[in-house]
Amino acid sequence: MYSAKIRGYINEIIEIGAVMLDERFCQVSTFSVLVKSSIGRRLQNHVREMTNISHKDLANGTPFPEAAAQFRNWIGEREHVMLSWGDGDLRVLLANTRYHISSQALNYIQNYVDLQDYFGHRMHTSRAQQIGLAAAGELLGFNVADYTLHRALDDSLFAAECFKAIFEPEDFVSFIHVCDSAYLAELEYKPRIISDIHSPLVDPRQLYYICRNCGRPARRMTEWRFASRGFQAEFLCAACSVHVKALVSFKKMYSSVDIKRSAREIPPDEEAPCVAEQSQ
Ligand SMILES: [Zn+2]
Repeated sequence: MYSAKIRGYINEIIEIGAVMLDERFCQVSTFSVLVKSSIGRRLQNHVREMTNISHKDLANGTPFPEAAAQFRNWIGEREHVMLSWGDGDLRVLLANTRYHISSQALNYIQNYVDLQDYFGHRMHTSRAQQIGLAAAGELLGFNVADYTLHRALDDSLFAAECFKAIFEPEDFVSFIHVCDSAYLAELEYKPRIISDIHSPLVDPRQLYYICRNCGRPARRMTEWRFASRGFQAEFLCAACSVHVKALVSFKKMYSSVDIKRSAREIPPDEEAPCVAEQSQ
């Protein structure tokens, strides 16, 4: 939903649901609240169908600051680790908290684990795959049809079942993030592609192309220019007579710069045509 207040889009939370387990995975209590929408007036149809939440439900919902306070009280002072399937939920909770209250107001969460990430580690599914909760349940042999998913509390109960099935105390510890302001800042950080080649974040020594055929540095034939998410230049390997368009992209992450490279061979018939000067 677009918000004039922040001049940007915000994913409004419409429901908070959670289950609390003790150290032995016994259910202590559950939490569920519908949040009154303050920005967006309409629920998207697919959300309405998936969740069965109506506009009326939301109109009667609890305003976010109050819902967040209830959630905070429910968690209380006890030592805890919060889990969610993918860190998107925590990111959205942070954005909503910042929008309605202040970003510091999320300080009631002590520790956090991205259960999707932990699942990927335990089940050896690839990180890039970002498997959904229902698919994860199927992989664990649960009959997903027995569970009503897509409502916050149901999802959390199901996620808890999945967590129980894969939990291993030794390797779980390394997935725990202390949910301090540095972690939240990192979570909130939006990586960006650097488009200015003179930026101090661009290491000029990284602007090269190594010939894929012979492994030798190729000669740059054109200036670097920024296009489609990175710096592009044409290279020629004299030894192999291979002409390529190489791309080097620099992505500013929270505490590092990611460098990615790709290259495309330019077939001889695609060589830049000589542009004839127009006669006056
Ligand atoms: Zn070569």
